[in-house]
Parts: sequence; C-alpha cells; structure tokens
Amino acid sequence: MKIGDLKGIGPKTEKIFENIGIITTDDLMGYYPFRYDVIKRSNIQELVQDDKIIIDGIVESRASVFFFNKKMNKMTFKFNIGTHLLNVVIFNRGFLKSKINIGVTLTIIGKYDKMHNTIVASDIRFSKLPSIPVIEPIYHQIGNISSSQIRTIISSVDNFDVIEYVPEYLKEKYKLIEKKQAVLKVHNPKNELELKQGMAYLKYEELFLFMLKMNSLKLNKKNKIGLIRNVDKSLLEEFINNLPFELTIDQRNCVDKIFDDLNSSNRMNRLVQGDVGSGKTIVAIIALYINYLSGYQGALMAPTEVLAYQHISNLKNIFKNYNINIEILTGSLKQKEKKEIYKRLENKEIDILIGTHALFSDDVTYNNLGLVITDEQHRFGVNQRSNLKNKGITPDILYLSATPIPRTYALTIYGDMDVSSIKTMPSGRKEVITLLKNNSEIKDVLNLMYEEIKKKHQIYVIAPLIEESDKIDLENVNKLEEKMTSAFGKVCKIGVMHGKMDKAEKDKVMEDFKNGDITILISTTVIEVGVDVKNATMIVIFDSYRFGLSQLHQLRGRVGRNDLQSYCVLISDKEAERLDIMTKTTDGFKISEEDFKLRGSGDLFGVKQSGDMNFRLADFKNDYNILIKAKEDSLDLLTTNNINNYPRLIELLSDSSNLD
Ligand code: ADP
Ligand code: MG
Repeated sequence: MKIGDLKGIGPKTEKIFENIGIITTDDLMGYYPFRYDVIKRSNIQELVQDDKIIIDGIVESRASVFFFNKKMNKMTFKFNIGTHLLNVVIFNRGFLKSKINIGVTLTIIGKYDKMHNTIVASDIRFSKLPSIPVIEPIYHQIGNISSSQIRTIISSVDNFDVIEYVPEYLKEKYKLIEKKQAVLKVHNPKNELELKQGMAYLKYEELFLFMLKMNSLKLNKKNKIGLIRNVDKSLLEEFINNLPFELTIDQRNCVDKIFDDLNSSNRMNRLVQGDVGSGKTIVAIIALYINYLSGYQGALMAPTEVLAYQHISNLKNIFKNYNINIEILTGSLKQKEKKEIYKRLENKEIDILIGTHALFSDDVTYNNLGLVITDEQHRFGVNQRSNLKNKGITPDILYLSATPIPRTYALTIYGDMDVSSIKTMPSGRKEVITLLKNNSEIKDVLNLMYEEIKKKHQIYVIAPLIEESDKIDLENVNKLEEKMTSAFGKVCKIGVMHGKMDKAEKDKVMEDFKNGDITILISTTVIEVGVDVKNATMIVIFDSYRFGLSQLHQLRGRVGRNDLQSYCVLISDKEAERLDIMTKTTDGFKISEEDFKLRGSGDLFGVKQSGDMNFRLADFKNDYNILIKAKEDSLDLLTTNNINNYPRLIELLSDSSNLD
C-alpha cells in the first residue's frame, strides 16, 4: 500500500516521505524511532535546577500573553500541582490562551527553573498524565513533519508486510518474537518489556545481516582469483638488506604475509594496523617493490597532499638506486601536468603513482595496476573498493591504519579483510612523556618549551579545530601565534599552518619545518597523520579535551620519532579524568579500547565511516554482544552451506556481492 493512500496524507506529505525513500507503508514501518521518552510524573522534590520536568496539575490563573512581535510571544500562567504552585512560561503558543482557563487540567513538559519556581514549557497537553508510565517514541523529523506527526501517521497504518530474514531456528535460540510484532512494538511499546522484545529482534536481524555479508565477502574472497605473480624472493631479501635499518619482527612478519598474499592466486585484501611511528610506511614500500618486480603498476593513496608529498620524497630516497619511475598526482596539479601524468600512466611510463583521491578520479587509466595501498585507511571509510570497481580493475589491496583497534573488534568490523598488527616499535625509541596541564599552568608549559628550544629541538603547537567555523579556527591559530610570538619571537622562528592555506603555502611551511628553519610550528590538526620530522621532540595541544583519545594519540605520535626524549603536553581545563589515560600509557591498542568504550565506534572511525556500518537501531558499542553472536551464527550458516535453505538470504547476498 502506498502511503499516499493513508488517511490524512496529502501529495505534499507524500512527496516529503518519497524524498527519503519512503513510498509504501512497508517502508514507513521501517522508519524507526531514534529514541524514546518515558512520560511519567516527575518527583519535583528530586529535581534540581534546569532538570527536565513532566508534571500534571490544574491551571490557577488565566493565561496572559505578551507579544514581542507578530510571530514571537510569551504566555504565562500559574499552575497548581498539588504540592506546589508554579509559574509556567511557554513561548509562541499564544494561540492556546483561550483554552487555558482556571480549573483546566494540563500536563506540562519542560525545564524546571527551580530558582524562579518556574517551568519553561516545551509542550502542553490537555490531559492528565496516565497512571502508569508511557513510553513515547521520538522520530527524527522529516522535512517539516514533526516527530509527533510521524507517530500519528505510523499508528494509522494497519496493513504492512515485512520480510523476516532471521531463520526460525535462530529465532528460537534467542527467543525472538515475530518480526511484524517487533516492528509494531518499537513504534508503540506498551511497556519496557515490549520495547525490549521488539528491539531484540530488530537489532539482531540488523547485525546478523551485516555479519552475514561480511563473512560471505570474506569467504568468497578466498576463492577469488587475483593477479598471477612470480617474484624471486632473493631480490626482495636483497632490497630489505639494503634498507638503512633492520625491520622489526612485526614488520618482517607483515612483509612475509604480504609476499605470500601477492604471490598466491588469491586476491589480497589486507589491513596493516600499527601505532603511529611503528613503521608501516616501509612495509608499504616493500609491498610496492614486490609488485614492481612482478611487472605491475602500484598506487599509494594518502589522505592529504602533505602526506602524499612526504611519501614521494621517502620513496624516491629509498628507491634512489633503482630504476623505478615514481610520480605524484594530486588535485592541485595543473591541468597540463595532470594530462601528462595520465598519458604516461597509460603508457606504463610510470611504475608507482602516489597521490590523494585524485588517483582514482574518472580521467585516470592505469596500464596494469597491480596493487593499491591506502594509507591511514580510517580516513577514507571502511570500504573504498567501490572506486576501483567502477574502474573495472581488480588489483591487490593493502590498507594501512594508525588507528589500531582491538583485534576482536577488528575481526568483526573488517570482517572481509585479513588483519596484521605491528605492535613492536623500532628499537631505540624512548617513550614519549605525557603531561596534563591546565591553562593556569601555561607558564610551566612555556618553560618546558624553552628547554627544548635551547636544545635546538622543534615543537608542534596544536590549535584545536572547531569544525563549525573556519573563522573561529583561524582565530584560534592566530591567538596562539600571538602568544608564541610574545614568548619566543625573539629566540626562534615560528610558523603557522592551517586548512585555509593553499597547497603551496602549506608545503613551504612544512618544508621550512622539516629543514629546521622553523622551530615552532603552530597548526590545526592538518599535521595529524603521518608527518615525520625526527627533530621535533615536543607537541603541545591546546584545549585537548576537544579531541578523542585516539586522535590525541595520533598527534602524540608526531614526536618521539628517534632516540631523543620527547614530550606531549596536553592543556585542558576540562575532562582531566578522561585525558589522564594519555599520561599513563602509550599503547595505541589500549587507548583505542578506552576510546571505544567511551565514545563508541562512530567517532573512532571518523566521519567517513562506511555506509555498511550505519545501523538503524543497533549500536556497535552497546550491542557488541549481539554482534558477536550474529557473527558466529552467520558464519555457521555459511560454512555449513545451510544458507542454501534460505532463498531470501541468498538473494540479499547476491545483491551485495558486487561490493568489490
Ligand atoms: P607510521 O607507522 O606512523 O607510518 P612510519 O612508517 O612513518 O610510521 O615510520 C616512523 C619512522 O620510523 C620513520 O622515520 C621510519 O623511517 C622509521 N622506521 C621504520 N621502521 C624502522 C625500523 N625497523 N628501524 C628503525 N627505524 C624505522
Ligand atoms: Mg604513516
């Protein structure tokens, strides 16, 4: 049934729903509430200033309305709740005045201004509160259709169908109710139990289908034909022996795994995760070399231009005695330069191409792309492969991630990837000492900075990025620049870098910092990932409470890149408790676990998380236990081939198998 056929839905409303893909009543019933309010009489004794209040009572005085202008007005009246006489204030509901007469029973929802014995109401209802608590679903507004309108529309639906994906035996196993019942219950739960039952089915189904896809991708991939290579391992060993340092054990293991992946007939889809500074880049370079030896082109994609340029100088240095053509392609190259690159790439005059997203823009055609490496993978989202799919190529794929996540999580999230972790740090590193300071201790911080400056070391100063406003961001950076200049302007050079600068300007600053011409680099988080300046021994992060722990950990990784003692100074007047863990450990896996606990997966993976992971009801963190069960159940179904008894699931999988 079309929702336009529901009573009270006109073409306008129908159109608004259609815009977000809701066309039938079946679709509509899949538009779940995002939270619930429990409507239950507040105990006013227990409330403190500005608490939310829900209370019923009787109007004690006629309402008076004050008009600020045509649209804005404020209505006030006295309200008796039995134990107290309160003032009620509500804005822009002047039209209700005639109905608010002495003796009328109302329920009022709002904020309790205890100090002024007043409720600032957000909602007035002309009825008593129900004697038992009511659970009220709250929906995200659609266009100008409010949550309560959506609720009304949904409750008018008496005919809809659902596809129940969860196999009967699993429903029995977890004592799940029928899906249709579950849907009705999440839209209109009579009590906590009903809500729980409804959620239990729907969350399980959501996670089960997600894991089924993940597991199926992973299993399919095992049979997927990759590129054929035949690389002489002795050439690789020679290359590794000529490196300026010895690989750590974990790096070595990664390299071996990658070598096997590349030489096997299966397609590689591997994630290398390791803390900042653990040396992932060299692993990537070795992978590119193996790929080069087998005669294929390689691509290395970095999240920012700064990093892309750093990579190219690194690669050119390591490959300086080899006859390998390495080029860079970023969005900011001139059209002519780009065209030149495209041409040479197609003619296979380029062996390794480094760059940003531009590497996979529509104009780019590779001659025989064999390996794609994505650096700082979490920046791009979990599933970048769709880009490649559109290009009709199936190279081996390697992801690098400096946001280590606990292995159990990794295995579920990256369900279709193999995961290698680099845990050992290159030797000779001293652990970075982390200090937590508040703004009143800024003098101490400046003294610490001065100690480093005297030693001719360099310092990063991080201004927090406030994403809502470029203007404020700039102000932040400028203020810090003033502060630093007044403290150190006479003794050393201070540079500034922020997102509003163009590439050439940023490059110049970065170059000056790398050369040591700039001693203090003030920056927003532009330098967050990957930047490698060994002589930098201190990073000072202002307003560090604005950052997630994993992000702080990444920033901290900018220092401590050789055998000099390095420092990370966190300045914050807030959230000392949360930030304290930074002073206690430098283990990125531990920190990410903590971050995971505190903030859930959404933040951990950044804004660009994969669409696959935007669950409608389930929450990666809170429902992790369900996820684990869903993972086991779906794997079982696939490996026993019992999946074949469920045509609907097969259909679903064939829809998603074109993911790569
Ligand atoms: P990340 O994992 O954060 O990308 P990098 O690859 O940038 O780390 O490595 C950090 C620094 O450590 C680089 O300067 C790199 O040259 C150096 N490095 C990497 N591996 C080793 C090693 N096995 N021994 C000594 N130094 C190493
Ligand atoms: Mg790196």
